[in-house]
Amino acid sequence: MSAIVELFNSSLVFYLGTIFILGLLVGSFLNVVIFRLPIMMERDWKEQCCELLELEAPEDNNDRKSLNLVTPRSRCPACNHQLKAIENIPVISYLFLKGKCSKCKNKISIRYPLIELVSAITVTVVAYNFGVSLQALFAICLTWALIALTMIDFDHQLLPDDITLPFLWLGIILNLDKFSIFTDLKSSVLGAIFGYGILWFVYITFKLITGKEGMGHGDFKLLAVLGAWFGYQFLPLIIIMSSLVGALIGITLMIFKSHNRSTAIPFGPYLAIAGWVSMLWGSDIMSAYLNAVI
Ligand SMILES: [Zn+2]
Repeated sequence: MSAIVELFNSSLVFYLGTIFILGLLVGSFLNVVIFRLPIMMERDWKEQCCELLELEAPEDNNDRKSLNLVTPRSRCPACNHQLKAIENIPVISYLFLKGKCSKCKNKISIRYPLIELVSAITVTVVAYNFGVSLQALFAICLTWALIALTMIDFDHQLLPDDITLPFLWLGIILNLDKFSIFTDLKSSVLGAIFGYGILWFVYITFKLITGKEGMGHGDFKLLAVLGAWFGYQFLPLIIIMSSLVGALIGITLMIFKSHNRSTAIPFGPYLAIAGWVSMLWGSDIMSAYLNAVI
């Protein structure tokens, strides 16, 4: 282990190159998580509903029943052709196959290589920013979680507890007095509480005034995660940034795509992006802002 750290420390190019390739590989796995986790959750909910209503569970086809994050191997969604290892190399296979399934020639979504690239680029930025450190290691893990959450929320308006809750606990563990990897324990715990509480308060107020539900409980949990990781001090910045980005994208969508104003726009992706930016440059942004006003 210490040999790897030494090697990383001796060559920045080797360090960043390794992280970039790792980012591509994990990005490929993130595609699986983004696609399969919602299917698995829906399957569990159906089973629970049937149990509660004492109904016979509907016959699901076997593929769906046995699906998990590891098996079966990835297939072409159009013709069910099982991908060979060589067709499953991040980005490269997509380029090599010219974006088409080798068997049925149906188009493969550009989303797959894009997510692999986003994963690789974001974690390389994180690695560069934090250097060879424990901060980098955990910040990279959080980056992957945020990418998965962003895409699942975008597709399904859903932020799975299976991702948010473990990362909430992990955030508090990382900041125990012994470790204090990103902040101190008190800031972390208060961050989790206020992160959840602020959005819950907004949600309840909005609901009392308009009778509508403006955001999901997943959003509270996601902000609690970010608060637990980086401390309550970062919450105002994350909320302001996510609201700005959200308003900007919302207005753009309304202008260009006749986006209905009542269409729910998921808030999770904006929180995730704002959280990630704050993780890297939050302190700089805040001190620049304070310097500007004082
Ligand atoms: Zn195919």
